[in-house]
Amino acid sequence: MKRDLKALIAQMTLEEKAGLCSGLDFWHLKGIERLGIPSIMVTDGPHGLRKQKGSADHVGLSDSVPATCFPSAAGIASSWDRELIGKVGVALGEECQAENVAVLLGPGVNIKRSPLCGRNFEYFSEDPYLSSEMAASHIQGVQSQGVGTSLKHFAVNNQEHRRMSVDAVVDMRTLREIYLASFEGAVVKGQPWTVMCSYNQVNGQYASENEFLLTDILKNEWGHEGFVVSDWGAVNERDLALAAGLELEMPSSSGVGDKKVIEAVKTGKLSEEALDRAIERLLRIIFMSVDQKKDNAVYDQEEHHRLARTVASESMVLLKNENQLLPLGQGNKVAVIGAFAAKPRYQGGGSSHITPTQLDEPLEEIKKLAGSSSTIVYAKGYSLDNDLVDVALLVEAEKAAGEADVAILFAGLPDRYESEGYDRTHLSLPENQNLLIEVISRVQKNIVVVLMNGSAIDMPWKDCVMSIMEAYLGGQAVGGAIADLLYGIVNPSGKLAETFPQKLSDNPSFLFFPGEADRVEYREGIFVGYRYYDTKQVKPLFPFGHGLSYTTFAYSDLSASRKQIMDTENVEVFVTITNTGTRAGKEVVQLYVRDVESTVIRPAKELKQFAKVELQQGESKKVIFSLDKRAFAYFNTDLNDWHVETGEFTIIVGRSSEAIELQETIYVHSSTKLNVKYHRNSLLGDLMKNADKAPIVQGLIQKLQEGMGISLDSEQEGMEMMEAMMKYMPLRALVSFSQGVFTEEMLNGLLQQLNQP
Ligand code: BGC
Repeated sequence: MKRDLKALIAQMTLEEKAGLCSGLDFWHLKGIERLGIPSIMVTDGPHGLRKQKGSADHVGLSDSVPATCFPSAAGIASSWDRELIGKVGVALGEECQAENVAVLLGPGVNIKRSPLCGRNFEYFSEDPYLSSEMAASHIQGVQSQGVGTSLKHFAVNNQEHRRMSVDAVVDMRTLREIYLASFEGAVVKGQPWTVMCSYNQVNGQYASENEFLLTDILKNEWGHEGFVVSDWGAVNERDLALAAGLELEMPSSSGVGDKKVIEAVKTGKLSEEALDRAIERLLRIIFMSVDQKKDNAVYDQEEHHRLARTVASESMVLLKNENQLLPLGQGNKVAVIGAFAAKPRYQGGGSSHITPTQLDEPLEEIKKLAGSSSTIVYAKGYSLDNDLVDVALLVEAEKAAGEADVAILFAGLPDRYESEGYDRTHLSLPENQNLLIEVISRVQKNIVVVLMNGSAIDMPWKDCVMSIMEAYLGGQAVGGAIADLLYGIVNPSGKLAETFPQKLSDNPSFLFFPGEADRVEYREGIFVGYRYYDTKQVKPLFPFGHGLSYTTFAYSDLSASRKQIMDTENVEVFVTITNTGTRAGKEVVQLYVRDVESTVIRPAKELKQFAKVELQQGESKKVIFSLDKRAFAYFNTDLNDWHVETGEFTIIVGRSSEAIELQETIYVHSSTKLNVKYHRNSLLGDLMKNADKAPIVQGLIQKLQEGMGISLDSEQEGMEMMEAMMKYMPLRALVSFSQGVFTEEMLNGLLQQLNQP
């Protein structure tokens, strides 16, 4: 419905306007009855609905109405499947409509800088492109149902340690290429109704008061049209936040914030126009929700549970599978070991913690699929309440494993190990689990370890087991999904969206995480995740993009639509994938780009495209990728823009960041004319690299050599040495080295000539 928002705002008192900029309570916005402005509800997110009926909190302590618990973001991202995550979004949107929720608080796109971050389970990836693509699909899915999303936590919120006060200090290029890029794609492609600012400071300013982030970048540069909401309690000074571009403070500040806004307008510290602009953004979203509200909406719980099972099975990653131990056949004596088999960990702790509509136990689901010809024996193996080794449980598990044909061992991180609110301090599983795996490996060689955790862990036992399945936090249908994969009903197709390091100290942020007091410096810069491991050639435990299948795929016929392009043009890349194995399966084809030669420091390669392809046995498909300027660009801080350096770029296609299958080189011409100003201290070598200026310099050097009577007899070695030495010589040095042949006046004349456009 078309409304005249400006006319509506004109009828509002200053008090009403200030009031609209903060919550009514924990989960509702204020309404203004006399003007027909309703009070709408916002609530968590991201992978299920956490609508609290009774007492409210933002850390997931109090109960919420039953809702479908989908796998958390760490899992969903491993599906690398845009369409699938879109379906999850649609389902979440339907549940919000049924529960009268206008905005779902998610998805979260903070980058996994360190595996220790307690909230990594809630974030998609260490790679900004993958993260933003997953988020955009999630957003589009939810919003297709007339329900808003809240992209969070904007920005640079990559640790829980001191999250409400820490200052994340990050250089501009890293900010743009890594931390903001993850939000940028999601905002531009998905247009989330709202964006949630983070608790922390970014380069010395609270995110909630950061005009550069909230207004210059989000609104002006990326064109965000919705409103910004504070993370719960993230507002420092309400008036400063409003001026910086934060429209809504949540939860209610019991009038404190409103008073500050009124005062600021009255004293002229904040213009009423700025307040009106904030109100207009709020009203636009409020009415968008009103107009799309579906009365008496219901959703099919069983159907959503089935979707949760499909999504979980598409997300889990088969990390290792020696001797093709998996999939399991029937008629086996199977020992199912580990407390998680009966009591799975399927979601993380904190504000995303929801009440599922039902929960599949892995043990029960395995029994169903193993069939009557199999024998299943269960042993608990360890306690989840503490890390202490329980000898009786250990002995019982050892016996069960020793007598079986195969042991399925469930391990992972207990709830208390990772959660919103605090970070891990190490990557180890509890001692009682690591010991259990070691003990079992002495009596049974056919071991499948199924992992339930939100982020990377250590695996000291990796070489002692045949198969490892990373189930992440698989949502309420986790049990069925695991059984589907173990018994080959579903062929695994997940790929890691994060690197598993050999050891914590290999992680590039290790030396600087989580910082000193309230300051964390992102000194590793752009070298986050595989960008570091690849470039530094540090072998990870499992690389980014890794994941196995029960079938095999062949890559062939990589080609580019053009060998040379301008950076203003797109290039199409074609590659053929063939299923060469014995069953249907899905492959995630990953496309990385490397700048062959660059004057700036760049990673060995960066992910720029991907596609998930389904193939029947023997089937081939041609995948087409389109690459634009951003695929080749880095963020140039002098230009304050994305820039491509003219030259060769390698297009790298592979099954993971490590398993590269095909490569092709193309040439990209920059359309940006860099305005370089030459001066007395410009280096000869830099001038020689500029095709327009090189002849001038070359001519000058020749004249000087003649003038000084230097003869190199054009001897190759002498020439090369001379060139190598002169490369780093500033122009002014020619004056003194030429002993009067090249004068100060001549230098000034040369500079004039060089700086002519
Ligand atoms: C979390 C947000 C969440 C909010 C409301 C905060 O503690 O950081 O992600 O949406 O609470 O529960």
